[in-house]
Amino acid sequence: MPTVVVTSPELLDLFAQPTFFGTQLDVSLATAQEAVLAQCRRPSDVALLHLGGSELDVLGLARQLHTEPGCDQTRDVIVVPATVDASTLDAVHAALPRGLAVWPCSADELYDILAEQVLLPRRAPRRASADLGVVVELGGTRIETVVCEASVEELRIALPRPIDVGSALTLDFGAHISGQSKTAARIQSIEPRVGGALAGLVLLSPRPEVRGLQAQLALWDVRPGGRDGSLLVTLQGEIDENTTFQGLLARIGGAPDIVFDLHDVSRMNSAGVRQWCGLVAALGASRLTFRRCSLALTIQLSMVPSAVGHAEIASVLGPYACVSCAHEAVRLLPTPVIRSQPALEAPSFPCACGGRLDFDDLPERFFAFLR
Ligand SMILES: [Zn+2]
Repeated sequence: MPTVVVTSPELLDLFAQPTFFGTQLDVSLATAQEAVLAQCRRPSDVALLHLGGSELDVLGLARQLHTEPGCDQTRDVIVVPATVDASTLDAVHAALPRGLAVWPCSADELYDILAEQVLLPRRAPRRASADLGVVVELGGTRIETVVCEASVEELRIALPRPIDVGSALTLDFGAHISGQSKTAARIQSIEPRVGGALAGLVLLSPRPEVRGLQAQLALWDVRPGGRDGSLLVTLQGEIDENTTFQGLLARIGGAPDIVFDLHDVSRMNSAGVRQWCGLVAALGASRLTFRRCSLALTIQLSMVPSAVGHAEIASVLGPYACVSCAHEAVRLLPTPVIRSQPALEAPSFPCACGGRLDFDDLPERFFAFLR
């Protein structure tokens, strides 16, 4: 079980959030140099060193972790305040931490940063809320019901009674798709609910139109955000000519403060960029924040200024490669860390082989969205 040592109570608080339920991390707070070193003795240990979060000399401690016998395998992550100045940041880069984070960060962001360092349980694909009327044909009866949730792998429908896992059924999407509207499906989970059950089902060899409908249902999810009164919108999957944001706009248009989490946007083609720019423009009156922008999205943000519009970009996922072993990785890069460098430099990170992970793109091109 990985041990995580944190050096501020604010960081410790994040581990109490649902994101970390079931991760079995052994998390402790240490606010003295010796106490941190004493906790860091195994390669799977992580030290989250909060610059400015305590009286600790964090940079001195990071250097000591790298050289102290027994501690040099510890995965140190330096957490810097969003207002960090360039000279402090130079010193942070020189300490060559294994990971970087910017405070304040959310539990989700912290999870991703830790998942770069130690093995954490894979999080299930996010299920988006849906409300799509369908008909289920099950053993000769037809049941009118709704798809309540969708992920890229599963649909969840309401049923009047529990049925066996593994049962086969037919799902009829009716007028929601063109052509043959029926598709075969199999129940893979059942959760009893008052007055019925919530059934998770997989579609069996769906036609492209059905697959597209599922992708569209799973594309966005909206829930209350971390900031007061803000909305958190998570997008996942492909944004292309089949994507329409009209339903999303109807849901979030007029909201004053919207945060987009974009780490699961796997592809965006030119038709998708046009849709995206239309969405950003239509949200012109809202405060917009993009965080954890995927590689696929960031490339577009840097080429197409109206894809950024008036949004603030909080963090992006950057491409990395090891100079020694050619290992490729992505690292979460908080934009304040990039912006505070005069030449838009990206930090390097240690590789597991003992070599160094360097940024693997042209910084002036990749980070063009910052100009
Ligand atoms: Zn390497």
